[in-house]
Amino acid sequence: MSMSSSSRAKTILFWMSIAFVGVMLWKLVSASGQSAREDEPSYSEFMAKIDAGQVKEVTMYLSQNSYELQGEYVIPANRRFRITIFKEAAPDLTKTLRDKAVKISVRDLRTGDWTLTLITVVPLVLLVGFWVFLIRQMQSRGVQPLKTRQGDVRFGLGYDLHRLDAGRPFVVGGVEIPFDKGPVGHSDGDVLAHAICDAVLGAAGAGDIGTLFPDTDPQWKGVSSLIFLDQVAKVLQDRKQSIGYIDAVVIAEKPKLGPHFAAMKATLAKSLKIKPEQISLKAKTNEGVDAVGRGEAIAAHAIATLVNS
Ligand SMILES: [Zn+2]
Repeated sequence: MSMSSSSRAKTILFWMSIAFVGVMLWKLVSASGQSAREDEPSYSEFMAKIDAGQVKEVTMYLSQNSYELQGEYVIPANRRFRITIFKEAAPDLTKTLRDKAVKISVRDLRTGDWTLTLITVVPLVLLVGFWVFLIRQMQSRGVQPLKTRQGDVRFGLGYDLHRLDAGRPFVVGGVEIPFDKGPVGHSDGDVLAHAICDAVLGAAGAGDIGTLFPDTDPQWKGVSSLIFLDQVAKVLQDRKQSIGYIDAVVIAEKPKLGPHFAAMKATLAKSLKIKPEQISLKAKTNEGVDAVGRGEAIAAHAIATLVNS
């Protein structure tokens, strides 16, 4: 669901940026048009205009060494003027303006500059930020193997087998069952957890248990395989995928696994951040045939479906 809404958001953002660029261009064009209509009289010309009563209102922008005066003539109407004078000329000019009853408003140019900078820079920063966001979105889409189509379902298959040895704890599906033998492995040798890991990773297109948690890495030595499931759940979260359903078969000659399935489902589901009802477990024997049948090994098959979350 979030996949389709994020693509919708992308479309909206795309058109918003087009509109934004359009507005900016329009503003730029209209601003340059306005400045073309602006009059920049000389000091004496300006004084003459004041004397002739063509100036009724003036805004003075103060800076360190000079004043800038802006306003509109009364005649010709709607014609703007802009004149920069030295600070020394200001008292004379101000007096003339006062004599002619011209309304003067004074502004600090530094504040004006600051506001102007803010108005110009903020939209630019927003635009650049948006571009970076868009590019990152595109890049992350490249990493995700999933199509953004809603309702996509992916399948993954997992298989695992471990040798059984005397004196090792017998752990299946995250649950320890009293038995005289247990799986030999770098971790706890939980075949069911491992098969589910591979099924889920396979469906996600995210490699397999061997590449994510290599048995040459000492940090995984003797750990509970539920840690792998926790990690797999994180991988899914990053990829915006979620588990639809898991079905698995555990093949062991002994002991009886059925009575422990409820506990296994609860344990596995907790690590995978799903509901126990999303897991189906089945048990088989190997009819006394092969290593599994002779009780020398335990094996598991699992299949998982993933949906876009
Ligand atoms: Zn394994």
